[in-house]
Amino acid sequence: MMRLLLAALALAAAFPAQAQFRLPSLDVNRLVDSVKNVGKATKEIDQAEEISIGSDLAATLLGAAPLVNDARMQRYVNNVGRWLAAQTERADLPWQFGVLDAPQLNAFAVPGGTIFITRGLLERMKSEAELAGVLAHEIVHVLKKHHLKAIQKGALTSLGGDAAAMALKDRAGAGRDKLISLGTEMYTRGLDKGDEFEADRLGVVIAARGGYDAYGLPSVLQKLQAMNAQDSGLALMFKTHPAPAERLDALGEKMQPTLDRYASQPQLVERFAAEARAAR
Ligand SMILES: [Zn+2]
Repeated sequence: MMRLLLAALALAAAFPAQAQFRLPSLDVNRLVDSVKNVGKATKEIDQAEEISIGSDLAATLLGAAPLVNDARMQRYVNNVGRWLAAQTERADLPWQFGVLDAPQLNAFAVPGGTIFITRGLLERMKSEAELAGVLAHEIVHVLKKHHLKAIQKGALTSLGGDAAAMALKDRAGAGRDKLISLGTEMYTRGLDKGDEFEADRLGVVIAARGGYDAYGLPSVLQKLQAMNAQDSGLALMFKTHPAPAERLDALGEKMQPTLDRYASQPQLVERFAAEARAAR
């Protein structure tokens, strides 16, 4: 995984920003076919399988960067994340939140409810509302099974129907390694833009429902936008997500009334400073 991440970082650095955001050309017939298949395969995956695929993926991600060795910080991030997850329709998942000891700025959601943010991103934050905004964005990826569906789609394309079904169901099966490597590859390639915009939109709602100032996520996006796009710590985040300005525009268009209504809820600047102190 570290090799993959490093390769992606090197790749991202080698291309101008323009090239990274070009939309792929779409083969419509193939797209329709795979969407049909995904619909079918998605129904076949139950929650236990989703959690098992997620734990294999989480182990791979943890192989790339360990958790920050600070129990108080990890407990704090877990508490904020679980509080938010408890407000959602999948409150029963075994939600876990962790801070990865990596200087890059990023966050990852793994199927089944495991979510990581990097130390680098946490260090840029100033309030619990900002942390909540980012965690809520990742929570939406799990709620909507964005990664799970992308993995299924990839498995169907590269392994074929039966082998994909086996790999998804059987943890010890022959196709499982291939499936997990497809999954980890996805974290260097990114999801569809539509999934990212949906995660922003619903993430803001979840953060507001949790009692936070709804401008937490937009505030983090503004910071990312203000940073130098050539910063190597941002390469993977920028490669796998739409540009911050585009995300802010999309949020502004659809969410202004919602955001404004919940803008006076607490940001919890002091509590964040105290609890996430090791990251400072
Ligand atoms: Zn995302």
